[in-house]
Amino acid sequence: MSELRFSVVEEAFKKKAADVVSPKERPSEYYAKYVFNKEKMFKYLDKKTYDALVSCIDNGAPLSRNIADKVADGMKTWAMELGVTHYTHWFQPLTEGTAEKHDAFVEHDGKGGMVEEFSGKLLVQQEPDASSFPNGGIRNTFEARGYSAWDPTSPAFIDGDTLCIPTIFIAYTGESLDYKAPLLKALDAVDKAATDVCKMFDPTVKKVFSYLGWEQEYFLIDEGLYAARPDLLMTGRTLMGHESAKNQQLEDHYFGAIPSRVAAFMKDLEIEAHKLGIPCKTRHNEVAPNQFELAPIFEEANLANDHNQLIMSLMKKIARNHGFRVLLHEKPFKGVNGSGKHNNWSLGTDTGVLLLGPGKTPEQNLQFVTFFVNVLMAVYKHNGLLKASISSATNAHRLGANEAPPAIVSIFLGKQMSEVLDAIVANPSGTAIEVSGKAGKKLDIIQIPELIIDNTDRNRTSPFAFTGNRFEFRAVGSSANCASAMIALNAAVADQLKDFKINVDKGIAAGKTMQVAIIDILKDYIKECTPIRFDGNGYSDEWKEEAAKRGLDCETSVPLIFDRYLSDSSIGMFTRTGVFSEVELNARNEVKWELYAKMIQIESRVLEDMSKNHIIPVATRYQTSLLENVTMMKDIFPDKYKELSSADMEIIEKIAFHSAQIKAGVQAMVNARKDANKLTLEREKAIAYHDKVAPFLDSIRYHIDKLELMVDNQIWPLPKYRELLFIR
Ligand code: ADP
Ligand code: MG
Repeated sequence: MSELRFSVVEEAFKKKAADVVSPKERPSEYYAKYVFNKEKMFKYLDKKTYDALVSCIDNGAPLSRNIADKVADGMKTWAMELGVTHYTHWFQPLTEGTAEKHDAFVEHDGKGGMVEEFSGKLLVQQEPDASSFPNGGIRNTFEARGYSAWDPTSPAFIDGDTLCIPTIFIAYTGESLDYKAPLLKALDAVDKAATDVCKMFDPTVKKVFSYLGWEQEYFLIDEGLYAARPDLLMTGRTLMGHESAKNQQLEDHYFGAIPSRVAAFMKDLEIEAHKLGIPCKTRHNEVAPNQFELAPIFEEANLANDHNQLIMSLMKKIARNHGFRVLLHEKPFKGVNGSGKHNNWSLGTDTGVLLLGPGKTPEQNLQFVTFFVNVLMAVYKHNGLLKASISSATNAHRLGANEAPPAIVSIFLGKQMSEVLDAIVANPSGTAIEVSGKAGKKLDIIQIPELIIDNTDRNRTSPFAFTGNRFEFRAVGSSANCASAMIALNAAVADQLKDFKINVDKGIAAGKTMQVAIIDILKDYIKECTPIRFDGNGYSDEWKEEAAKRGLDCETSVPLIFDRYLSDSSIGMFTRTGVFSEVELNARNEVKWELYAKMIQIESRVLEDMSKNHIIPVATRYQTSLLENVTMMKDIFPDKYKELSSADMEIIEKIAFHSAQIKAGVQAMVNARKDANKLTLEREKAIAYHDKVAPFLDSIRYHIDKLELMVDNQIWPLPKYRELLFIR
């Protein structure tokens, strides 16, 4: 065993940077090479088809079967020129990751040969045999099938020899079985509600887009070392491993020089991402050793989310060409920062105005404050739900761990916006607010000079922070599908904006001017949502107490946090906005609980195996060799025996103690698992796994990590943290 460890470590440390063949072209030349974007559409479709497709993409106009046939034909021609032979509907089931089933373009030609074919019918809709995807009981194989349906707003792309068509995945009865369908509904809801509000300020606004700019954190680890760790292989994280003497305490990794092997990987990844039209822009080291970040330029949320899904699979693929594995787990290593995925989110109009940033005119600033305050209200009302939207078995390791946001959703406003809001409330009703005043006229409150928003005033401990012209939802997990957070956030904001508009209309009907009606409501909202505002240290214990007093959701058990999806306020909000029906919410929660229990179950089984097969045998072997040593000492130095061997005896006893604790812990954990497995309701099972099984993962690990420090390094069977965490 030890030989394996030493050979893989040696191998890993000998690795050199792979040569990246830099393409001769510049990114601008190969950018989106593998994307069927408007440029390709224009080239490969006739004018009528092109116009119909663009109108479908931009305005949601329906597409006839005839046009779909022509689009399919154009796509096929383009793809075949690039060597493509297969196509797939690419969708995002409720497991993490994406799914695809490849079919070749070929069809019988009726003369004993084959022709390449791809019709509108195959483009638009398919029935993947997907009965094995989680569906929370909505669909079972005998009742109804699910189908995938083309999402023309996200362009088709090529992966290797396959044309990939982004699709939604729904049951025949209409319920969504994926992330994309509800995301599109939430984006539509926020578009409609926000457009109605925008029209009060600018009647020419026709559409509001929701934007997402994600920042993806990840770890890289040498492939050989990864393969020698069954826990990483099967659970994505290390279930054991004592902290390395040096890890991140010197804070020398963040923004430090990128090791050449890693730089080569990043370069390669960027080139491939650019070819897929993913606008990667930023890359740097993160806080922890071996931790890095990648961020593109923000895009419309649906496309941005597809791109995030795509980059996660692309990273995994390209890493392997460089002898690495990518870890997207939120907490691969204990005692070292975990990985998140900051979701920078904003709203913007088709007229080019970013609604969450200050504008140039008083009117624009009133509009900004209107959207700003409505976001605060939405997050306040649904803070428990938003937490649920980012909660998972894996993200639970990171949240509240003094490195990531706490498990309480609050908003960081910064000094300036806090002052603006406080001033609005302090201003007597109906006075001094003349938003429609002459151009250039200074107005009391709403006048926010363009540059005063200070983007550097950051608070890293906040899960939801205002950063100048957007909010940054920082609690999202690195492996998560961003759609989960984006569905909850956009739907909540849509519902809130609808409410706001109704209230403004009431004020106007009661004889107020529009501005006064708006300001009066904003005042009420600002007062009401005060509890969500928190600019202090989110890591402190005082905050936990304070947040509980304020009535914010402080639950930390993931299975119970999932209940927030089924609260009256969540069901009301999701049904009013048309994003989820109650049936869907119930079904999706079944899936969440089921996945939660399964993840803990797998971790527990892996820990059991590793304890029994890796750790205990090695500890016993070392213990035996110490015992032999003591026995011989006793024989040879009978007089001095006690004195000479007392330290050895101490270690022997400690090894015996920790080994016994591990064995007893494993037995108790197995029993807890058996009890949990008997429960038939998914919710109860998940709770049992959380309360009764998961605690053993920590307590057993404690003893294993102690043994790691005692047992002879030569025979320790697993690569250690100091070996895993430093790429050379
Ligand atoms: P950091 O938070 O690490 O300083 P950056 O300033 O590089 O990050 O930006 C992070 C992400 O925010 C990028 O993807 C960027 O494109 C995105 N972003 C910038 N402005 C907006 C916006 N108005 N809406 C959504 N995302 C945005
Ligand atoms: Mg950021």
